[in-house]
Amino acid sequence: MTALAPLVESRLLGSLTLHAIQAGGQRLDGGAMFGVVPKPLWEKRIAPDERNRIQLGMRCLLVEHPNALVLIDTGAGNKEDAKFRDIYGLDNAGANGRTALEDGLAQLGYGPEDVDLVVNTHLHFDHAGGNTYRDADGKIAPSFPRARYVVQNGEVHFATKTNERTAASYLAPNFQPLVDVGVIDEVVGEVELLPGIVTLPTPGHTPFHQSVLLESDGEVACFLGDVVPTTNHLPLPWIMGYDLEPLVTLESKRWLLRRAREEGWTLIFEHDATVAWDRIAHDGKAYGLVSVLGDSVKHPSGAGPEEGKVTPVI
Ligand SMILES: [Zn+2]
Repeated sequence: MTALAPLVESRLLGSLTLHAIQAGGQRLDGGAMFGVVPKPLWEKRIAPDERNRIQLGMRCLLVEHPNALVLIDTGAGNKEDAKFRDIYGLDNAGANGRTALEDGLAQLGYGPEDVDLVVNTHLHFDHAGGNTYRDADGKIAPSFPRARYVVQNGEVHFATKTNERTAASYLAPNFQPLVDVGVIDEVVGEVELLPGIVTLPTPGHTPFHQSVLLESDGEVACFLGDVVPTTNHLPLPWIMGYDLEPLVTLESKRWLLRRAREEGWTLIFEHDATVAWDRIAHDGKAYGLVSVLGDSVKHPSGAGPEEGKVTPVI
């Protein structure tokens, strides 16, 4: 099984400092992770375990911005029981009863009280579980006592009105306590939260899913969330079976990856077990990492590859 990336990896983006914190791992069914892509294709890229699960990361991003300390997504938190953790292969414990996310923050010299702003790509348990925590008395409270939490308005409403298909991923203790104490700032569409930090709607995984764009001194990075969860999801039709609107995901990926390639964005992969970030290129068939394909892959038209011609995978 793939080993997880280090707890903390750091880099600069212009005048911003980015820290990718590996907030533990999870193992999910490989078939569900690749939707309609047949197993003989996906298992060539990533080998499943004996329960057909593949190793994933749960990467959060801490951004040191001159005006605020910003955390994007919060991992799975500490509230789930052993059965739940086994089903989803959750392994996010840190040292001394802490979570791996808390360990990562501590390694960087921060405590939960230092975080000013939390941004959730969406409210699924593996992205928002660390929004709140259960204390020794069993009481659930916000994990970051000084922080405001930014979520798309539509996502908050969608998460609180679940149905049989969506309920397993939206667990009220991850967000209802925040609603109750009034610390969620609901945003609509593209909003600049701080200079150079912008919410970027990328619907499909959920109807109001968002990515986060970071820009400083001409450099751009994008925290993708679940629109492209791992580097293995770069090919356009490699879309998770979990996605509620897979054809909407397809269109989000189409414009997002095209823009990322043309504008040289650094992409940040939340669920990739090993790769935190890279830029992308295209080899004429599909997108891939610059570190794999090389930087020189160019298409003479400047229009990019014929991504409209999606090769059927079934
Ligand atoms: Zn996810």
